[in-house]
Amino acid sequence: MSGNSVQFDYRPNSTPVPVAEREALLASPGFGRVFTDHMAVINYTEGQGWHDARIEARAPIQVDPASAVLHYAQEVFEGMKAYQSGNGAVLFRPDANARRFNGSASRLSMPDLPEALFLESVRRLVDVDRAWVPSQPGGSLYLRPFMFANEVFLGVKPSAEYLYMVIASPVGSYFKGAGGPVSVWISQNDTRAAMGGTGAAKCGGNYAASLRAQAEAIRNGCDQTLFLDATERRWVEELGGMNIFFVFEDGSLSTPPLDGTILPGITRDSLITIARAQGMTVREEAYSIDQWKSDAASGRLRETFACGTAAVVAPIGRVASPEGSFTIGNPEVGGEVTMRLRAALVDIQLGNAPDPYGWVQRVF
Ligand SMILES: *Cc1c(COP(=O)(O)O)cnc(C)c1O
Repeated sequence: MSGNSVQFDYRPNSTPVPVAEREALLASPGFGRVFTDHMAVINYTEGQGWHDARIEARAPIQVDPASAVLHYAQEVFEGMKAYQSGNGAVLFRPDANARRFNGSASRLSMPDLPEALFLESVRRLVDVDRAWVPSQPGGSLYLRPFMFANEVFLGVKPSAEYLYMVIASPVGSYFKGAGGPVSVWISQNDTRAAMGGTGAAKCGGNYAASLRAQAEAIRNGCDQTLFLDATERRWVEELGGMNIFFVFEDGSLSTPPLDGTILPGITRDSLITIARAQGMTVREEAYSIDQWKSDAASGRLRETFACGTAAVVAPIGRVASPEGSFTIGNPEVGGEVTMRLRAALVDIQLGNAPDPYGWVQRVF
């Protein structure tokens, strides 16, 4: 199968969720617990390449106990959203997700998936399950493309077989009690990524290694974990699944640079572009935890926020560690610049503002 002639077999779900039940689920979907009727699947076999692309009923799959992913964690994923816009649905920068997916795959010695296949799999799934795209404000259809090693072999080497799938989940807001600032805990012993590691790849293994630090954050009364660099334990990197921005009193912004240990967020990139278009200065530079604390105390730092597809933009109000905690700006509400950037991004995503960058792509 070449990327130019994408043939997807369509095998409709013969027992879709009844309409009334679907409507009830869509009224309050939460995050990541409700799924649509179908999934996209493509197989990969060494020598043959990608084959058997299809949209079929979402259902459990059979995985052999010796399947490589269960032992050596060759797995990568993406996270993106389809939004209701007008009478149809749109995707936000899906081509960027397709490129990043291959970047992650390359780091984990997995095969390249032609961008056209990635995009077509996502579009077809949204199209088939269009009734599942939430229409209430803040709602969206979260899409989870992923790929894993599926060769039945315990030898340590890149797998000769892979399964690529896309599942879809209608979601409301990511955080409970959405909108209010989140608190972050500085991970004390665990780091997320080291130079030369997999920090810039969106792989399940990074998340597995972050869960203990996240539990530590919750134990200490915080919402999220913040990771420092693995070498000096001094430089702010990112949260477990979100990038971070700082807003200063002179109106400038800064965010940690993409040095290989940070996930290159598409929300991060979009906000940098929007902020610069609004005339703001944005620096991609290292920022230390000590500087953060003293800038928050002096008032030089006005706002801090986290960003990612799931939560879009989340203000950070409090930063805690065993040495104590500090707050940023008015910790009860999100800062003005944070909220303005969030609104500017969401307006483009929902079609309420012009899209000068061609970021929004209509599905139907
Ligand atoms: C996915 C992810 C992000 C955010 O990326 P977006 O493209 O903005 O959703 C940030 N950090 C990590 C670790 C991630 O996995």
